[in-house]
Amino acid sequence: MNEYDSNRILDLVKPIGYSVTDNPSDADCYVLNTCHIREKATDKVYHDIGRLKKEFRNKKKPMLLVTGCVAQAENQEMLCREKYIDGVVGPQSYHQIPEIIKKVENKKSKINCTEFDVVEKFDTLNLIKNSGSKISSFLTIQEGCDKFCHFCVVPYTRGPEFSRSFEEVINEAKQLIENGSKEITLLGQNVNAYEYKDKFNTYRLSDLIFKLNELKELKRIRYTTSHPKDVTKDLIEAHRSCEKLMPILHLPVQSGSSKILNSMNRKHNISDYHNIIDKLKKVKPEIRFSSDFIIGYPGETDYNFNETLKLIKKVEFINSYSFIYSSRPGTPASKLDDISFKIAKQRLIQLQALLEESNSKYKKEFLNKSIEVLFENKLNNKINFLVEISF
Ligand code: SF4
Repeated sequence: MNEYDSNRILDLVKPIGYSVTDNPSDADCYVLNTCHIREKATDKVYHDIGRLKKEFRNKKKPMLLVTGCVAQAENQEMLCREKYIDGVVGPQSYHQIPEIIKKVENKKSKINCTEFDVVEKFDTLNLIKNSGSKISSFLTIQEGCDKFCHFCVVPYTRGPEFSRSFEEVINEAKQLIENGSKEITLLGQNVNAYEYKDKFNTYRLSDLIFKLNELKELKRIRYTTSHPKDVTKDLIEAHRSCEKLMPILHLPVQSGSSKILNSMNRKHNISDYHNIIDKLKKVKPEIRFSSDFIIGYPGETDYNFNETLKLIKKVEFINSYSFIYSSRPGTPASKLDDISFKIAKQRLIQLQALLEESNSKYKKEFLNKSIEVLFENKLNNKINFLVEISF
């Protein structure tokens, strides 16, 4: 989502005379668009600012705006701690960046812009054409989260669930297709919680997929990230009927233990998860799944961890993400006692080895097969085009 946001920030500042530079050490303005989901996100921002200060030691200081979820979470504290920062802008307020830049240029005071103006943000963005021209593009349709998993900061940094209007999403998709996109990934923190009501209808993610599936020049559709609780019948039907919807679903599970899922406040258990997988496989036998795993969540026993391994063996996930649990300040889980880091690390190694096994098995399925591929990038070396596949 930050990639989508960064591109839209660029669309917003073009009319006031800014563009991307190939030479960052000559930049007049830096926008550090940050993500708060990983550990030590704040430290990384200060580290980057340190590098910037060094680089510009003997030059005119560039304007520095910190945007995204770290800005949202730290806001005023950041401005007080690091004088080099000219403004902090939350992920729901970045439509105000042109105005903020002008204020900073006019030497007004430091700017703290961290309200949840999500409706106003998209109203502003809708007026500006999306200039994204990648073969594979991201398109935000939904933001925020009402699920409040006990380990996660997203509901506090991105705010409550909000869905863009059906029409504005389709219009933006058409702009991207006009610009050359062949693949669109619909984005949301809870993308399948998408729900937009107008006077006559209620639109869900499946309605967007069905509509996009009709657009001739578009070849592929994806969506991420989903929550198991919102995998509804109509969405499963879209997987059956929409041939452009790719046969892969990123469906975070976090743990294979219902006890741990309950403690995480995930709002689903393992048998719900298996049911979803079974239903999707029934309508789309070739569908594959990727997932997110948190290892060593407070209270995770050997037995609970083995339940996660069992799930991985059964589903044979591909391309998954796995991390050792790390506490985020202010979340309910941060009040729980951590398990031993040494044990968590051993478990992570074991789990990643198993995920790697499924991954290689999956890749080997493509040996000696002819399949249609979408090239996303062209190498600079136009003479040799080398594709290396290793197992
Ligand atoms: S559903 Fe996802 S974004 Fe929402 S709180 Fe849970 S982990 Fe965070």
